[in-house]
Amino acid sequence: MNILHYVTQKQEISPKLKKLKATCDAAAAVSSKTEGGASSSSKGECGAESLGLYDKDELQKRLSAAQFRVTQKLGTEKPFSGKYVKQKDEGQYNCVVCGTPLFTSDVKFESGSGWPAFYDVISKDRVVLKEENLGGLQRMEVKCAECRAHLGHVFDDGPKPTGVRFCVNSCSLDFKKHTTV
Ligand SMILES: [Zn+2]
Repeated sequence: MNILHYVTQKQEISPKLKKLKATCDAAAAVSSKTEGGASSSSKGECGAESLGLYDKDELQKRLSAAQFRVTQKLGTEKPFSGKYVKQKDEGQYNCVVCGTPLFTSDVKFESGSGWPAFYDVISKDRVVLKEENLGGLQRMEVKCAECRAHLGHVFDDGPKPTGVRFCVNSCSLDFKKHTTV
């Protein structure tokens, strides 16, 4: 829980993003109470940090060096270097660590920033937002709600209807193309 953290920080993150964070927090609280077995791994500690979900050594073997650095050490891939920046196929973007579905191609847009951008998440309880303050630079970090992998950041300059932009590292995502049945 980051509530104390939240009130003592300088308030420079926009109200729109704070509201989004509140919405995500509320959605996560509801789903952890009501969903019986949808995500067995995060049950138990009442939404407490479930950082021990994966063993770091195991992750280091399973993920590429870049994926590990981004998701576990808050890394950022170089702009325009990620494999999904220009991805236009229809499909779903899952968390590369735990497989939780996070974004769809329907809400992906070309932001020009050099990272994949989405204006919404599949469901607000899939991500956790966290205010970050690095040397005075205040941003809203986006993490996977299930495994706490670092995904990227969210900004308030996105297109309609949400007006927000989830700026996500390709390294944090695993794209699954829709297959026509
Ligand atoms: Zn995850």
